[in-house]
Amino acid sequence: MSERTYVTPVGDTGMYILDTAAWRVYRPVMDKSRCIHCGLCFSYCPVNAIQADGKDYTITYDYCKGCGICAHECPKEAISMQLEGSVKANG
Ligand code: SF4
Ligand code: SF4
Repeated sequence: MSERTYVTPVGDTGMYILDTAAWRVYRPVMDKSRCIHCGLCFSYCPVNAIQADGKDYTITYDYCKGCGICAHECPKEAISMQLEGSVKANG
């Protein structure tokens, strides 16, 4: 039996590597022109798929499951959930 590697997005142990993006149906897309840099999307994302760089927030898709929590919590409706394949990239 081959050895398995256990990691999570935050570097803990005890969880298999899974391509969680594989089962995403809807993709969060951020309209940065509407963003007021409140950080709520960053705080609420359960898998740390939103990165903060100073005041700038960016969605990364390696672990994003498309749960929509970020879009639901955004006070400016700057994040919309769009069907996978209908958009090319995060704004
Ligand atoms: S859709 Fe869910 S998993 Fe993806 S960035 Fe938003 S809160 Fe995180
Ligand atoms: S929750 Fe909305 S307004 Fe706040 S940082 Fe995220 S995208 Fe910007």
